[in-house]
Amino acid sequence: MPQGTSLLIEGDRDALSIFLKFNPTLDKLISFEFHFSPYTPPEMAALFAKRSLQDKVTLDHEAARKLPLLLHFLQERMQKKFGDLQSIENLYLSALRKEASAPSSPVSGFVITPEHLETPVDKLIAKPASRSPAFAVICPACHTENPWVPGLPEQTRCLHCEAPLGDQWGIWKDSSYFRKRQDTSHLARTGAVARRRIIRAGAET
Ligand SMILES: [Zn+2]
Repeated sequence: MPQGTSLLIEGDRDALSIFLKFNPTLDKLISFEFHFSPYTPPEMAALFAKRSLQDKVTLDHEAARKLPLLLHFLQERMQKKFGDLQSIENLYLSALRKEASAPSSPVSGFVITPEHLETPVDKLIAKPASRSPAFAVICPACHTENPWVPGLPEQTRCLHCEAPLGDQWGIWKDSSYFRKRQDTSHLARTGAVARRRIIRAGAET
C-alpha cells in the first residue's frame, strides 16, 4: 500500500470480524476500531417521523402509537441489528408501498395509518398494543421519567424540574431498553454517535 494511504473499512461488527479473520494481512494493517451504537427505538421513531415530514407525509394518532412499539420489537426481539438509517428507510418505504401502486406515485399529503406499518412482528405486538402500552420519556436535565403519548407538544416540560423535554419519542415501559435506561439513567447521553474508541491492542479510550 502506498505511503500515507488511509484505509477505512466499515460494516457490521460480527461480519467484519469474520472477514478480517480470513484476511490476516489486511487485519494487521488496521490500527483502530470505532464502534457506533445502533439507534435506539425512540431515536428511530424520531428519524422515521423526520423522514415522513420531508415528503409531507404524516402519521395518524394510532400509527404514532404503533410506531415506537413496533421499533422496540423489531430491535429487541426480532432483529437485533435493526438500528441503522437503512432499516428506517426500508420501513418507511414499505409503508408507502402499501398505498402507492407505482413507485413514482406522489406521496405528499399521504397519511400513514397502523395498517401501513404492517410487519412480521405484528402478531407479537397485538397483545401489548391492545393493553394500551405505556411510554415514557427521560428528562435530559434531571433524568427522571415523564409520561409520553403520541403528539406530545415539543414545548412540553418535565413534571419534576420543568426542563424542556424536546421532541423525544416515548420509550416503551415494558421493553428491555427501558429497563436498561433506568439502570443507566444517571449517565448523560449524547445521541447515537460514536461513544468509544477501541485500540486493537485492547486498551479502551
Ligand atoms: Zn427533569
